[in-house]
Amino acid sequence: MRYISTRGQAPELSFEEAMLTGLARDGGLYLPAEIPVMSQDEIAALAGLPYEEIAFRVMWPYVNESFAEDEFKAIIARAYDGFGHDGRAPLKQLNENHFLLELFHGPTLAFKDFAMQLIGQLFQEALKRRGDRVTIVGATSGDTGSAAIEAFRGLDAVDVFILFPHGRVSEVQRRQMTTPADSNVHALAVDGDFDDCQAALKDMFNDFEFRDGVKLAGVNSINFARVLAQIVYYFSAAVSLGAPHRKVSFTVPTGNFGDIFAGYLAKRMGLPIDRLVVATNQNDILHRCLSGEGYFKGDTVPSISPSMDIQVSSNFERALYFAYGEDGGAVAQLMDELKNGGFNVSQGAMEALRESFDSGRVSEDETLATIKHTLTRSAELVCPHTAVGIKVAEEHRSADVPMITLATAHPAKFPATVEKASGEHPPLPSRMSDLYERPERVTRIANDLGALEDHIRRHIAE
Ligand SMILES: *Cc1c(COP(=O)(O)O)cnc(C)c1O
Repeated sequence: MRYISTRGQAPELSFEEAMLTGLARDGGLYLPAEIPVMSQDEIAALAGLPYEEIAFRVMWPYVNESFAEDEFKAIIARAYDGFGHDGRAPLKQLNENHFLLELFHGPTLAFKDFAMQLIGQLFQEALKRRGDRVTIVGATSGDTGSAAIEAFRGLDAVDVFILFPHGRVSEVQRRQMTTPADSNVHALAVDGDFDDCQAALKDMFNDFEFRDGVKLAGVNSINFARVLAQIVYYFSAAVSLGAPHRKVSFTVPTGNFGDIFAGYLAKRMGLPIDRLVVATNQNDILHRCLSGEGYFKGDTVPSISPSMDIQVSSNFERALYFAYGEDGGAVAQLMDELKNGGFNVSQGAMEALRESFDSGRVSEDETLATIKHTLTRSAELVCPHTAVGIKVAEEHRSADVPMITLATAHPAKFPATVEKASGEHPPLPSRMSDLYERPERVTRIANDLGALEDHIRRHIAE
């Protein structure tokens, strides 16, 4: 499989090259040149298999030029070994035909572990083979950073620097980033919001001298390997509810459009997905856009679902690429307009988006009420992001198609909000109950590209 840029001006790469590169040199995002399709029989045969086996069958066509079959199977086994649940991504029933897909049983209690643990193993294998080392820089609204640090800590071919918005992540999220003692881990608290962190990261990738000098690699959700790992649980969940013989819908609490874009690829691969529903908090650029109001940046407003406090949704570019008929030039032009505030989506592209996607927005009060309601009615304590999903899912579900809402984080990652809403304190799983006692290590830093690049240059291992 070859990988092409959404803006059409960067060289085609292999999976391994696209993974190690992250952002394409024309500023675009990598995508497979064609989407592999699974037959209905192949999908039916996934029912009842272990998660790791489903993962192998779904991802194999995307990576088979870069890894040997046994090598890739071993990578998958190592990636999910540290999860606290044998099912990896178990389903729970909320009511007649609404289900929760629990994606928070990984080492940092959020769905990002599914992709990040896999990427850590893929990087290790690829770099070992090449005798190379890289500097990973990531921007996080909270969960990506801790997941990246857990995935890369202690690997000698990698330094990992994580930029997070100072004061805007939860205490559990912060401690997960600042307490690992490994010398290749560097947590940076930036004076700015998540969009500032993400913009600084993009600027570093566009500074080719810096990028080549430190061998910069990205593991943000722009990295296609992240999206790839997330396709798997759409398959595992759908087949356990009767796919391909029965359609299912998904509701996905979304900020960067990464997780839900994986659902779109699953659908294009042949999984019978009826609707893909985007659920946003008050930072609602995606909901506004899918409602026909164009894609215009607003100011990011901090919310109780902070991992979705995003006003520029980086993976949406991939959806636009398909909505605009795989026209890289058109996407490049839209992204130019975005620099000046935003753009209107053409009528044809809107129709293409609406074929797959619906959307909804949830207020802060509704999020709290949904946490309470879900505990009372279904005996489940859910995190605020998951609550955003549940609320939108209830508005969009139909009687005859099961709805699956992605439960993106464990409630114990956001204990203050969950307790305020429900009156119950969500305990951390016992394997991480000493988190509040471990010493923290973090550098506070200005939202300034020069300062950030300088810090990184001075702190990478020789
Ligand atoms: C990252 C994250 C999201 C948003 O995921 P995207 O891929 O950015 O859309 C939602 N919920 C939680 C808990 C997250 O960590």
